[in-house]
Amino acid sequence: MKTFCGRANPTTGAMEWVEEDEDYDYHQEIARSRYADMLHDKDRNTKYYQGIRAAVSRVKERGEKAIVLDIGTGTGLLSMMAASAGADFCYAVEVFKPMANAALKIVEKNGFRDKIKVINKHSTEVTVGPGGDMQCRANILVTELFDTELIGEGALPTYEHAHKYLVRERCEAVPHRATVYVQLVESKRMWSWNKLFPVHVEAEDGEKIIVSPSEMENCPGVPSVCDIQLNQMPSSDFTILSDVVTMFSVDFSKPVKSASTYYRVQLEPVKSGKAQIILSWWDIDMDPSGMINCTMAPYWVKSTSALQWRDHWMQCVYFLPNEEPVLQGEKVDLTAWRDEYSLWYKLQKARGEEENKADVRVESPVCRCQAHLLWNRPRFGELNDQNRTRQYIKSLKKVLKTDSVCLCISDGSLLPVLAHYLGAKQVPYFFLFFKANHLEDKIKIIEAHPELLTSSHLEDKKISVLMGEPFFTTSLLPWHNLYFWYARTAVTSHLSSNVTVLPQSASLHMMIVEFQDLWRIRSPCGTCEGFDVRTMDDMIKNSLNFRESKEAEPHPLWEYPCKSLSDPQEVLTFDFRKSVPQHCLSTEGSVNLLRKGTSHGAVLWMEYHLAADISISTGLMQISNKKGNCEWNPHCKQAVYFFSSVIESETLSDLPSAVTYAITFNPKTGEIAMDFKL
Ligand code: SAH
Repeated sequence: MKTFCGRANPTTGAMEWVEEDEDYDYHQEIARSRYADMLHDKDRNTKYYQGIRAAVSRVKERGEKAIVLDIGTGTGLLSMMAASAGADFCYAVEVFKPMANAALKIVEKNGFRDKIKVINKHSTEVTVGPGGDMQCRANILVTELFDTELIGEGALPTYEHAHKYLVRERCEAVPHRATVYVQLVESKRMWSWNKLFPVHVEAEDGEKIIVSPSEMENCPGVPSVCDIQLNQMPSSDFTILSDVVTMFSVDFSKPVKSASTYYRVQLEPVKSGKAQIILSWWDIDMDPSGMINCTMAPYWVKSTSALQWRDHWMQCVYFLPNEEPVLQGEKVDLTAWRDEYSLWYKLQKARGEEENKADVRVESPVCRCQAHLLWNRPRFGELNDQNRTRQYIKSLKKVLKTDSVCLCISDGSLLPVLAHYLGAKQVPYFFLFFKANHLEDKIKIIEAHPELLTSSHLEDKKISVLMGEPFFTTSLLPWHNLYFWYARTAVTSHLSSNVTVLPQSASLHMMIVEFQDLWRIRSPCGTCEGFDVRTMDDMIKNSLNFRESKEAEPHPLWEYPCKSLSDPQEVLTFDFRKSVPQHCLSTEGSVNLLRKGTSHGAVLWMEYHLAADISISTGLMQISNKKGNCEWNPHCKQAVYFFSSVIESETLSDLPSAVTYAITFNPKTGEIAMDFKL
């Protein structure tokens, strides 16, 4: 069977449908999956085990047989826990075929063949009764179907169905209950991920301010969850305006309703400020008493010593539709709406019961201004970064003349507006802003691919300044923005002989790092709570090596602390003043390891050289101390290449002198291949 996978082609900037065989999809899914991360989550695993043991005991104490239904068994872990805890029989349901196969192998290998039946189905397809998938209904319901938003992976409809058709009325559930918590905060940093702040431009004829159109100001944004490693957000980046409050709970041992609903709580601000953001996380109680609790609470809510690092469950950031002032002690109502899969919030002045009943509006936020569809949250943050904007302004001031004819190639860029205010006459390009800033007749949007640019688009003028940030929404890895280079090549015939290209060049940089935690997501587990899960390790390894080409993967490293073990090194340069070459750009070399630690992998990023002495890094900002702790660009993802074997050096004397590398940019595909030897 063949499947089609949508993928952006970095040489054309276009989305293309690539035909892949069936294996491709699932190798991608396994290789990039969170299974390893879950198996490394000791806190989660031990608490599930405790909860399962307690549930089996309660059922046995009642003199019943313990029949377990494990929905979404994955590796079979929770079913094996149940069987070990004395359950009489387990039905382990898994919809993803490769995982169901793995579960089967793992269950056999661990000797639970007669206690656990793996069913490769979606739980809603499972049949009960003689000749069915399950002999009878279960009396213990075990699942782990939660995402960072709790309900985003469909836990509610799955539970609703299971209670109707698959489990008995008085059943035990592990987890027993989930509770969602919220806290109101003001945070310029997080607010900058959702609204465009005014951009200040110091022009020759005074300060100009680029404002966002009112459609954008009042737009509720998009409903997709913003999940981040909140523990990496320093307390100086937000102000707490309320205590932590319970928003709602779900009891999984009773019938669950998935239909849309809302929850309302009253908050009493502990401080006056601008209400902008709702921070949210959840915990699960593995037993009815709440003694076995697994929580995602961030560092300021619980002691740091109790923090378990995990990437499969993080914390959520919700943006209120508009920022609103709140006063200390003056109560406000916070409403959470949810549908089957997502949540959204609204804040109102506290009102009486009767008034409250009248307001039951449940539509989820829909972007009306288009900007939230064009820019994701990190991109908003990037555009709002005044430091970054200043670098572009400084560079534009150096290259622009009053008779410059500019062409900007970047997605949803403010560069044309900046260029206009800085004096350029002709700036073909882009959308909405122009109206809000009365620039419709000054800036022209060309709705054509660079290859299709004609001299009539340019009114027969030659381009004297070609600019880009560069940024393209389809880019996944840092070097995919090299599409700018391809576009520049495509418009070569329209460039004047003394054209200035901004940025004039880019360079690829690389550094060897030790991750504090991120290594877990790609590291084999061996045994988990005493169960042999090496089959899973092998499966992940096999998928990572699929096609024998290990690839770098994108990660926003500001969320994943690491320390540098080598100096950063420039490995390739791309000269935008020239066209894309026909031949590959290759480099080989070695980097010296300077600090002791475990070499988990290499991090790669791009730097853009806007003009002489002005560069923008999309990766490393600085190495902040002697220990080698790194500070990363907070708006960009960097490329991480995990080494398949790690080297540990306890002392400097057993440091291998160097890691050797071979890196190749293939202009035909726009991709970068790499190989490292330790
Ligand atoms: N129980 C395992 C794995 C949890 S990951 C553990 O705790 O380690 C969740 C798994 O549930 C995924 O493998 C996913 O494919 C599966 N899944 C999610 N919803 C399901 C459903 N309704 N029916 C069957 N499998 C489901």
